[in-house]
Amino acid sequence: MVKVYTIASGKGGTGKTTVSVNLGTMLAKLGKETYLMDADIGMANVGLILGLQDVPVTLHEILAGKNNIDEGIYTGPAGLKVIPSGISLQGFQQADPDKIRDVLSEIIKRCDFLLIDAPAGISKDGVVPLAAADEVILVVNPELSSIVDALKTKILTEVVGGRVLGTIVNRVDPDKSEVIAKKMEKVLGVKVIGIIPEDANVRRASAVRTPIVIKFPDSIASKAIKKIASDMIGVAYTDETTQAKSREGFIERFSKALFKKKSEK
Ligand code: ADP
Ligand code: MG
Repeated sequence: MVKVYTIASGKGGTGKTTVSVNLGTMLAKLGKETYLMDADIGMANVGLILGLQDVPVTLHEILAGKNNIDEGIYTGPAGLKVIPSGISLQGFQQADPDKIRDVLSEIIKRCDFLLIDAPAGISKDGVVPLAAADEVILVVNPELSSIVDALKTKILTEVVGGRVLGTIVNRVDPDKSEVIAKKMEKVLGVKVIGIIPEDANVRRASAVRTPIVIKFPDSIASKAIKKIASDMIGVAYTDETTQAKSREGFIERFSKALFKKKSEK
């Protein structure tokens, strides 16, 4: 069964695009046919993060009726399918947000997961993805203005008939994550489905236009994203670096044991 998630927040800059791109890449890495659509037709940046900023056909052209959907689907990291939005103001003006529904109904025939990177705010193009998704994931930072915005977006989602799955708290001080998660659940009244720490590797990865889960898979932010993706698929989260370390430990112990035996001989 296909699942459609809209990644929303209220205000910009909380990490929606970072979460969309990396969660999408991670789901693809875990073997799921995953599409990522940049519905932020006013301030597109999925394309920028993935190095798809110069592609000929974007969601703008599709929503303007100039091109068909297939011409605007690009293959990203780990086989993630990406539908970038354009960045020109003119393209934005010609795009018809009402057509998003048609595009969505075509895409969901093809995938396991569709993630929609939603625009901030309550314009028409912002509200449609909140209502159209099976579930909305709110990306919130541990600061008052972001929490207030997330709360507004939660209410807005419910007003338009959508459903909030939970929140991802992003840019959290790793030492305080448990306390913050508890507080967030209390204040927002929704489940915290993931906690992503503040991690300088996020910026480093986006500077080279590569998702952090590909560029720095062992970073603390990547591990947090892998945990969220594993939970979404319903598989157990495995930390490969810990596994590798315990394998190394085992090999070390094994060879030491061998050596001991040899010298004892
Ligand atoms: P939005 O799409 O909500 O506007 P972005 O995903 O573009 O937000 O993120 C805004 C900025 O915050 C970017 O510069 C990004 O690199 C940075 N950022 C996002 N998440 C983290 C994190 N966990 N640690 C450090 N920086 C982050
Ligand atoms: Mg964004």
